[in-house]
Amino acid sequence: MALRTIRKDNDEILRKKSKKIDQITERIEILVEDMIETMHDADGVGLAAVQVGLLKRLFVIDLYDGEGPHVFINPEIISEAGEAVDQEGCLSIPDRVGLVKRPENVKVKFTNLDGQEKTIEAEGLFARAICHENDHLNGILFTDIALEEKLVD
Ligand code: ZN
Repeated sequence: MALRTIRKDNDEILRKKSKKIDQITERIEILVEDMIETMHDADGVGLAAVQVGLLKRLFVIDLYDGEGPHVFINPEIISEAGEAVDQEGCLSIPDRVGLVKRPENVKVKFTNLDGQEKTIEAEGLFARAICHENDHLNGILFTDIALEEKLVD
């Protein structure tokens, strides 16, 4: 395993759309391991492949609640319900946080590392993290949609 370099918000790759993963190769498995290690090392709750410079529809999430880390390959949010406004940050934008409105509940379809298609329902912080990471796959950053932003020390 190895730490990967996290791309920061002036890096134009963060604005590009990621591409579907056709096959879960050994390279993808290594990438996932590295992304989890990189996320943990940075004390983040989520990391998308584009944030380490690879335009692949893949992200990892760990809420440090004993359930994770979760791996989402080719995710698709198929339904949303409710709304919640809460503070959000991003490993690619370390100097800012913002208030972002997200759905309270989402249903997401994805492929897991074993190549199986899954659908799960998530709420609260987990739903927020899924939406935030899914936005990365489409070149969207939380600062694009934040209701309010502030600098952090
Ligand atoms: Zn982010």
